[in-house]
Amino acid sequence: MPRPVLLTVDDDPEVLRAIERDLRRKYASNFRVLRAESGAAALDLVRELKVRNNVVALFLIDQRMPGVSGVEFLAQAIQHYPDAKRVLLTAYADTDAAIAAINEAGINHYLLKPWHPPEENLYPVLDELLEDWESSIPPQFEGIRVLGNRWSPASHNIKDFLARNHVPYQWLDVETGATDKEVREVVALLDEAETRHLPLVIFPDGLRLQQPTIAELAEHAGLKTRATQTFYDLAIVGGGPAGLAAAVYGASEGLRTVMVEREAPGGQAGMSSRIENYLGFPSGLTGADLARRAVVQARRFGVEILSAEATEVRLDGSYRVLKLADGAELSCHALLVATGVQWRKLDAPGVERLTGAGIYYGAAMTEAMSTRDEDVYVVGGANSAGQAAMYFSKYARRVVMLVRGSSLGASMSKYLIDQLQATPNIHIEFNSSVVEAHGDNHLEAISVHCSVTNEVNKVTANSLFIMIGAAPNTDWLGKIVERDERGFILSGPLLMRDGKRPKGWTLDRDPALLETNVPGIFVVGDVRHGSVKRVASGVGEGSVAISFVHQYLSKVV
Ligand SMILES: Cc1cc2nc3c(=O)[nH]c(=O)nc-3n(C[C@H](O)[C@H](O)[C@H](O)COP(=O)(O)OP(=O)(O)OC[C@H]3O[C@@H](n4cnc5c(N)ncnc54)[C@H](O)[C@@H]3O)c2cc1C
Repeated sequence: MPRPVLLTVDDDPEVLRAIERDLRRKYASNFRVLRAESGAAALDLVRELKVRNNVVALFLIDQRMPGVSGVEFLAQAIQHYPDAKRVLLTAYADTDAAIAAINEAGINHYLLKPWHPPEENLYPVLDELLEDWESSIPPQFEGIRVLGNRWSPASHNIKDFLARNHVPYQWLDVETGATDKEVREVVALLDEAETRHLPLVIFPDGLRLQQPTIAELAEHAGLKTRATQTFYDLAIVGGGPAGLAAAVYGASEGLRTVMVEREAPGGQAGMSSRIENYLGFPSGLTGADLARRAVVQARRFGVEILSAEATEVRLDGSYRVLKLADGAELSCHALLVATGVQWRKLDAPGVERLTGAGIYYGAAMTEAMSTRDEDVYVVGGANSAGQAAMYFSKYARRVVMLVRGSSLGASMSKYLIDQLQATPNIHIEFNSSVVEAHGDNHLEAISVHCSVTNEVNKVTANSLFIMIGAAPNTDWLGKIVERDERGFILSGPLLMRDGKRPKGWTLDRDPALLETNVPGIFVVGDVRHGSVKRVASGVGEGSVAISFVHQYLSKVV
């Protein structure tokens, strides 16, 4: 496999030579550094690379060039390489054009000329972008292989779990055996019995797991499923932004911290194709990037991250004991609940039966490649649905958003509405809801009701992504903490009734702001009653909660 390409373009030969030299010095061992002296020549080169099936990791382009400008070049080049990172080289005077290009051509970064010394002004930026690129590209090496069927919910769950945990894998769709030589070869090497019970997960060491559970998969994929200690100062359940922030702050302040996550660190945010409103990332970042960075940060401070599901909590004196799905227990002084929310189910005939087989809750980015040149339907009118529509529009022929209300203004951010309106293959149908899903073993059509005309239309559809509101993940807590009528956990002043502390409260102070009715059990993020459902607020709550944990520990330990 040839090394991925770094392509740099500048019409000034001296600048081009300098940047090429700097790129080679740092990246030549892992990447091929190619150059072009004009936007037009670079476009020819990009087409040639595509024909040869070569991969481009990064474009580093001068903005001000005669003929084809940097932004014009990128707008065309990304049609061929949508995953390549894009950096614009600009003069100080062109900064405004570069900022405008963040939206226009999806620029990841702009660098001011001159960039010397590269160790300070060039390499740190490129290192980070190339690291992101490497973690998001489809794997091109020998690793875990998943053989299954596109329409099988079990196959979808395996792919989704591996992708969200950043475990690289290769997907082999058994249905494509007629056209895909690699699939044919793999199938030919397997026993017939193995191919009858898909999905099959093949590990590089030769181990094969047939229809594995998520716990089995986690264990064999190298994720940590068992705690190394039986006792921790702080146990966090849920690894979304709120749980991750608490983990980073807790461990960095010396608490022995464990974080239990049943799916993948990042939570809902990890499923976001582009978070554009998180402070400090002017070009936005994918939820997967955010999660990956946070996990590295948490690990650096010594947080133990378990791939496991918490199923129960009990109190044992001042200890809080967490029971996990495999029956193991771990105890702690302070417990922080950060279990977030999950999608509300769409209640219509056929939907449950076809979930995982063309119908998915959330953006299910692992399915994007399969929707190439198809029509994709997205149900929902909030930011998450808007982001998903933008994401799928890069792959699908047409994305249809089905919105129950008559406008997007009340539920979606303005920047996203502008992006949707400017994307020609996105179509929004207002006053519309799905009333039935049709298909034998996978989704083939949906019936859509229009509340204005009262008509129901049946349309062909292979993919339906549902994002319609959220329900809190709190059933596992039994009756131990107080919740509102919808299941969101109450905290702090809301627990005080007529000036009285909650029943059974044992401390000589009121519950702290993010504390539940049980001393030492805290709650943060989307699962908390009254929380603002945003990444930044979850991160804020997770960080702030640690000061209440310290306050609690100072009295009980
Ligand atoms: C597609 C999408 C796009 C979004 N885009 C944006 C955006 O652009 N900007 C923005 O500010 N916000 C955005 N949001 C909202 C934002 O992601 C959420 O507000 C945020 O993730 C909430 O964080 P959290 O940590 O409270 O919970 P979550 O992110 O919901 O994480 C909770 C975690 O707990 C785990 N869990 C649940 N129960 C258990 C259990 N029993 N045992 C172990 N683990 C458990 C779950 O698997 C999950 O990983 C988006 C949401 C979605 C879905």
